[in-house]
Amino acid sequence: MSNPRILILGAPGAGKGTQSRRLAEEFGIEHITTGDALRENKGMDISHLDLEYDTPGEYMDAGELVPDEVVNEIVKTALEEANGFVLDGYPRNESQTEYLDSITDLDVVLYLDVDEDELVRRLTGRRVCEDCGATYHVDFNPPEEAGVCDECGGDLYQREDDTEETARERIEVYEENTAPVVEYFRDQGVLEEIDGEQTPDEVWEDVKATVEARAN
Ligand code: ADP
Ligand code: AMP
Repeated sequence: MSNPRILILGAPGAGKGTQSRRLAEEFGIEHITTGDALRENKGMDISHLDLEYDTPGEYMDAGELVPDEVVNEIVKTALEEANGFVLDGYPRNESQTEYLDSITDLDVVLYLDVDEDELVRRLTGRRVCEDCGATYHVDFNPPEEAGVCDECGGDLYQREDDTEETARERIEVYEENTAPVVEYFRDQGVLEEIDGEQTPDEVWEDVKATVEARAN
């Protein structure tokens, strides 16, 4: 399969970003991540929608979902521009799932399965490069020099929503809104379940083999 269209599902902290970066590099496809796109547009004025908050950032800092209108538009534009992609962080509820269904076909749907306590440990120890977006963990995947990106030398920072309290809130929001999305794809018989509690390299072996098997 050239330029596969891949969806990667999993709770916050399951390792979607980590594996998506490798998929994008291995298969030469775009990494489309709504979380990163929204972080770049945290202050965007969405007051015309007349909803709970006036910017995406306020939803994000509370651990809540940003309104569908905003996120669907980001994904539509990104998919139109991509020749093969790995979609990470979307869809997060039923209405986004229906919207995605109406704008593209998927070749592979991966699901990284990780237990809740492990998710909290991963989220609270996560560090991200402010220049290239590479992700580290203070214990599980530390950079060679603390606070400095191995790949580009950029400074590492902790995301504002990676506190224990907001991490738990996000996992709750996931259970309520996004777990049904996983069930939807499972019911369709297309869900490729992967044990996300292995080491990053072991998870990658399974992810790569699954995508390659789909290609043949
Ligand atoms: P997501 O994109 O699903 O929120 P990330 O890929 O950002 O998750 O990973 C969350 C944190 O867990 C990061 O700190 C990352 O370094 C770490 N991590 C990712 N995969 C694993 C793994 N298989 N084992 C241990 N830690 C991991
Ligand atoms: P992530 O980087 O995937 O952990 O997402 C960080 C935050 O961005 C989430 O907690 C939400 O507030 C927001 N977000 C990301 N993707 C979506 C989405 N598909 N729908 C709604 N909100 C989203």
